[in-house]
Amino acid sequence: MSAVRNADLHCHSTVSDGLLAPASVVWRAHANGVDLLALTDHDELGGLAEARAAADEVGLRFVDGVEISISWGDDQTVHIVGLGIDPGNAALQDGLRRIRGGRDARAERMAEELAKVGIPGAYEGALRYAGNRALISRSHFARYIVERGHARDVKSVFDHWLAKGKPGYVSHAWATLEDALAWIVSAGGTAVIAHPGRYRLSAAQRMELFGAFKDLGGKGIEVLSGSHGPDETREFASIARRFGFLASRASDFHGPGESWIDLGKMPPLPDDLTPVWSVL
Ligand code: AMP
Ligand code: MN
Ligand code: MN
Ligand code: MN
Repeated sequence: MSAVRNADLHCHSTVSDGLLAPASVVWRAHANGVDLLALTDHDELGGLAEARAAADEVGLRFVDGVEISISWGDDQTVHIVGLGIDPGNAALQDGLRRIRGGRDARAERMAEELAKVGIPGAYEGALRYAGNRALISRSHFARYIVERGHARDVKSVFDHWLAKGKPGYVSHAWATLEDALAWIVSAGGTAVIAHPGRYRLSAAQRMELFGAFKDLGGKGIEVLSGSHGPDETREFASIARRFGFLASRASDFHGPGESWIDLGKMPPLPDDLTPVWSVL
């Protein structure tokens, strides 16, 4: 793909846990100067048609994407982004429907745990923030907990209640790495490891994850991510060189005021890396 100046290949809409509707995400990206955008809602393809139509209208190049939740190793949650997937692919659709299916029961358990620590009504409260009933997420709980005045922002809700090891955290079996890669590959997409700096893995576990991902047909890694600082960008640039991964540039934007970085506002990729959009 030629002459891409400002790619953003990871963001969310109200179809998962973003704050803006798919078309609004596209308009904001366009206004911010993004010239290649992927919408990558969690475990959902339902926003892609609206986003693509909006992108066509404003003349923004658009890539169909998804961010798949997987369980890996010792109860770690890892996210794998699929780019350039066919949203009509049955294996991908069925797989995602299956992993979405566990979210509602998980949410009920989270609400029970939160009630025990003095936050009642969290299931109904979170549901009010969920644009898609099938995709109730910890982000929706976080917004409700902020609304109730228990924390000043979404980030501190995670630190106190929703991160692994905190009272409202309920462990959950997502897809396997093998499943996610098989679905993405079968849908003609390119698999990318999302925000590798976010996982609490030892150096050895990280290498194991990258190796397993590559063996299963994984192609890329987010070098630039809204959740990476400069040190992590350098670290994952070096991982990309070592494993021969394509490099992605990814805000992981969820909404104004809630995200670390706005759409398209990341620095450029180190120029010796091969951008993932060269194969999209
Ligand atoms: P879930 O898929 O329901 O487990 O929710 C995961 C989502 O919660 C992620 O995609 C982020 O949007 C959000 N999240 C996870 N950890 C944090 C954090 N420490 N601060 C803010 N948001 C977070
Ligand atoms: Mn999210
Ligand atoms: Mn993620
Ligand atoms: Mn994301």
